[in-house]
Parts: sequence; C-alpha cells; structure tokens
Amino acid sequence: MHVLRGGRVVDVAGTREADVAIADGEIVAVGDPKGIDEAMEAVSNGNADGVTEVDADGKVVAPGLIDSHVHVMMDGRPDVSTAVSDSDYTASYRAAGNLEAAVAAGVTTVRDLGSRGTLALDAGEAVAAGDFDGARVLACGRNVIMTGGHGNWFGREADGPAEVRKAAREQLKAGADVLKCMATGGVLTEGAVTGAPELTPEELAAFTDAAAPTDTPTAAHAHGEEGIKNAVEAGISSVEHGTFMDREAAEMMADRGTYWVPTASALRGIVDNGIEAGIPEDAVAKAEDAADRFDDAWDHALDADVPIAMGTDAGTPFNFFGEIPQELAYMVDYGLSPERALAAATVNAADLLGLDDVGRVEEGYQADLVLLDADPTEDVEAWQDPEAVFARGERVA
Ligand SMILES: [Zn+2]
Repeated sequence: MHVLRGGRVVDVAGTREADVAIADGEIVAVGDPKGIDEAMEAVSNGNADGVTEVDADGKVVAPGLIDSHVHVMMDGRPDVSTAVSDSDYTASYRAAGNLEAAVAAGVTTVRDLGSRGTLALDAGEAVAAGDFDGARVLACGRNVIMTGGHGNWFGREADGPAEVRKAAREQLKAGADVLKCMATGGVLTEGAVTGAPELTPEELAAFTDAAAPTDTPTAAHAHGEEGIKNAVEAGISSVEHGTFMDREAAEMMADRGTYWVPTASALRGIVDNGIEAGIPEDAVAKAEDAADRFDDAWDHALDADVPIAMGTDAGTPFNFFGEIPQELAYMVDYGLSPERALAAATVNAADLLGLDDVGRVEEGYQADLVLLDADPTEDVEAWQDPEAVFARGERVA
C-alpha cells in the first residue's frame, strides 16, 4: 500500500490538489488527507505498518501512459530486416528489455501490433504473472497481410475473404486482444509501395467481421488515402500511421469515430537519423516523402476533429521504448494542445484498447501512476523522466 501525499493530481478531468491512496493494485482513494486516512484504515484493517508514504509535495501525480502501437520484438536498430535471423530466445529477451524500459519511462500499458508467433502475447502473460516489471501488454499476435505484402517476414499471409477470415480467427484463438492488418504498403519493407492499397475492401470486411462477435478492436496499417478509406468503410477501430490522410478520409474517420494513431516517432526516427545512421536508403527516401504529407494529414485531422490515440510504433529505427513519452511532444508540435495530448495517451488510448479501468487518477482505477516534476498540461516535456512510476500498484521506478 502506498499513499502519495501533498501533490497535485492531473488527468483528463483537470488539475487539482489531492492525495492518492493505492492498495492491491488499485487506486482506493483520491482526495483530502482525512478521506485518505479513512480509506487506508478501511483497507488495512488498522494495520498501518504496510503503508509506504510517498512525498509528492510540489509534484504532480498523473496516469501512466498508454502506447497503442509498439513492436516488442524490435529494438530500434537501423535496419529492422536484420532481426529476421534472431532466434526466438533472443527476440524474447529483447521484448523483456523493451517492456522494462517502457515502464521505467512511465508507459504502463502498450499494445503490440505485430510480432513473430505468440511472442507478444506470451510477454503480456509474463508481465501479468509478475515475472518481471514491464508495461502491461495487449497484443494482436501476428499481422494479417496479403501474400508478399508489408511486413511479410513476420505476418500471416492470407488472400481472399475466406483466408483473411481464417487468419483473423487464428489470432483470436491464440488469445489476441486486437486484430491488426495491412491495408497499404509500408516504409520498412523493401519493394512495398508506401501508400498502395494491399488488402482489398472485401478482405478488410471479412477481417472486421471476424472480430465482431467478440467485439475485439481492429487496427489497420494504412498510409495511402485509398487504403485508409477502405479500412474506415470496413469499420476498422483505428487507422495506424494515416500518413497521406486527405480531407475526405479525415471526415469519414470523424463521422465514424475511427481513431487515428499517428506514430510521429516512427517517421522522426527515420528522417532525423537517415542513411548515415545505417537506415536503408529505400526506407529513408519513403519516409522523407511521407513526412511532407504527414503535416497535411495533421491539418486535416485537426480540422475534422478526428479522435486521436497516442502510439509510436516503438521498435522501428531509432524509436526506442525508453523514449515513448517524446511522442506527446511531437503531437503538440503538430498542433495538439497538451491537454489533448494527455487525453490521446490516456483515456482515448484506453477506449481504443477496450480498457475501462486505466487512464485516470480515480478511485477504482488500476494504480498505474507517474510522479512528475511539473504539470504536463502546462509543459508537455514533463512526461519525460518521471520521478517515480507505479504499475498495478507496485513501485517499479
Ligand atoms: Zn507498426
């Protein structure tokens, strides 16, 4: 049990002075010291020995961040294709290291949108079992892609509605929390054209249909406007990247409540480091082209009021798990207010992931909390280097 004393609480409900009590992995009280003492007495049955006081004077208590798009098996190396030859053991140790780095940076939940086999699903079970301190993992299992499509070295290739449906159901059978497909080509697969449609409208419809009975969220990797529209029309829950989003696509997404997960960190990691850093020439050229269009995508999304959830694509070149909070600063650079960046990385991401007990500092929510030096709705940089991190009630940093 912990009590965070004398700080200010910040979440989507605003900034207020309050103490926070946590026990058994949950937030049990948020309020004035008297109410906190009463709550702690109730949960501890008068045994105050097990209560650790944390001095939060002058500090800010905020929800742990949620990253809606990561790849736990990748490590930010310049050329991701060199990870193909890693053994499953190597990839698993790397995943553990990534999840430790994420939680130490204040990211208490991540959603893996594509790893080999059941690696990310198994990593999620290991974190839940307490095998190591890492971010909670929700995962899609394997990506569903057309034969030879983007990410084919680790995706589940499927062609035609029947095969796509089967591929999606295989992921659900393996325990997937979300289904992920490729609606267009990508930046990091040689030969794939970034914006070109991949799965057809019929295949995408079969894909979302497979997720419907269990109300499982669906995610589509989509750069080009045609692929984005195909995915939105199929009823996808989130468009990942959405780099070439035009006005019509943005309005469709706003109308349907389709989330946009912009992954600015992925583009920045490639464009800011370039060929000199060892990133393949083909990927750098595609990313530079995409970066220009990405500015326009932000304008369209903000004009149309597309719902946004924070995601980084962590694991792609120079896009490290320990630096995930940087994405909020990028989002503010592109025009989101710090308050909306907070919402994107907390309540919006929770809604997209289908979680109803994370993302707020409120009684009954999971005790996923960060202790910051400043109010992140005044200074978005405050998310970086949290002074303390609690994940499921345990202090992990
Ligand atoms: Zn990705």
